[in-house]
Amino acid sequence: MTEALLQVRGVRAEYGDVKALRGVDLDVADNEFFALLGPSGCGKSTLLRSLAGFEDPSDGTVTLVGEDLLAQPAHRRPVNMMFQSYALFPHLSVEKNIGYGPARAGLSKKETAERVAEVISTVGLDGLARRRPSQLSGGQRQRVALARAVVNRPRLLLLDEPLSALDRNVRAQMQLELKRLQHEVGIAFLVVTHDQEEALSMADRVAVMNEGLVQQIATPQELYRNPVNRFVAEFIGRSNVFEGTASPDGLVLPGHAGVLPGNGEGGYLVVRPEDVVLGEPGTDRLAKAPTLAGRVLETQFSGGSTAIAVAIDGVPTASGQPVLVTQQGFTTVRRGDDVTVSWTADNGRIVA
Ligand code: ADP
Repeated sequence: MTEALLQVRGVRAEYGDVKALRGVDLDVADNEFFALLGPSGCGKSTLLRSLAGFEDPSDGTVTLVGEDLLAQPAHRRPVNMMFQSYALFPHLSVEKNIGYGPARAGLSKKETAERVAEVISTVGLDGLARRRPSQLSGGQRQRVALARAVVNRPRLLLLDEPLSALDRNVRAQMQLELKRLQHEVGIAFLVVTHDQEEALSMADRVAVMNEGLVQQIATPQELYRNPVNRFVAEFIGRSNVFEGTASPDGLVLPGHAGVLPGNGEGGYLVVRPEDVVLGEPGTDRLAKAPTLAGRVLETQFSGGSTAIAVAIDGVPTASGQPVLVTQQGFTTVRRGDDVTVSWTADNGRIVA
């Protein structure tokens, strides 16, 4: 196996009594778009800042291209960081903002101009080189910030909530754009975000973090299909979670006669809303999987799909919420209808 570009091993960091990182391991490959995803306070920024050199981990090792990263002072590390606020110089033009870094690094005027022109074209800012930041849209300012961050050709670009300053519409567009730009510039991106949609739509792989620990590292599809634990299942997408004991046939609920279909080891069963099948009471004999009886509490149509909340008699979910079912298009059931719900064992994942 070829060695990863970035290797993080057993990294711990504390602020007084607060353990911000409790032993983090992860690898980022060359050219990879990697996201650190987790709720506020889980340690994402501390990890990013440790890589950038603004924070000193108390333990662990980090290597970048085989070299000890933590031993190098921040300004010597072959990484760059793009901040939320972009921190552009308001009085300088786009090209001067981008050329600031290379000029400071000692590149000649000619080399600087060439690199700046190249990167301006890569990020799609042709024709805007003479403008000031105030004369640009939010998305364009973001591109300037990105151009400035990559113009010195770092091996790894660290991005802290890169899209959070943009409004919703621009954001969705920039998610795709950022992914395209990452491919184009050919630099590994390590992005911190608390927004799961953002991480799933952009990243090749995602590390889901909670309370200073990595919970799971996987592709977006794998995280959704095969979460390793309840935290990941509930953090990524929507899910129905039941608590009980694993058995060869599925999850045994305390005080409930039946077994909920599913496979795996652990104390929680996870079923995605789109995998739950609604049925009519009295048709159990025809159903392929065991059914649970319930009643429709609410239906919510949202364009392409409908969400249906179902209260199940005597079978509480772990969160106490009704069972959520999603269907393509419209639904014929209405509030108050008696229904059954079922799913196949393949769609029930028992996790820790
Ligand atoms: P995230 O980026 O995931 O929101 P952080 O890395 O910022 O999380 O924070 C992790 C934990 O460390 C939190 O409990 C936070 O309150 C704490 N923390 C972060 N920075 C400091 C600091 N400078 N001083 C004290 N505690 C901090």
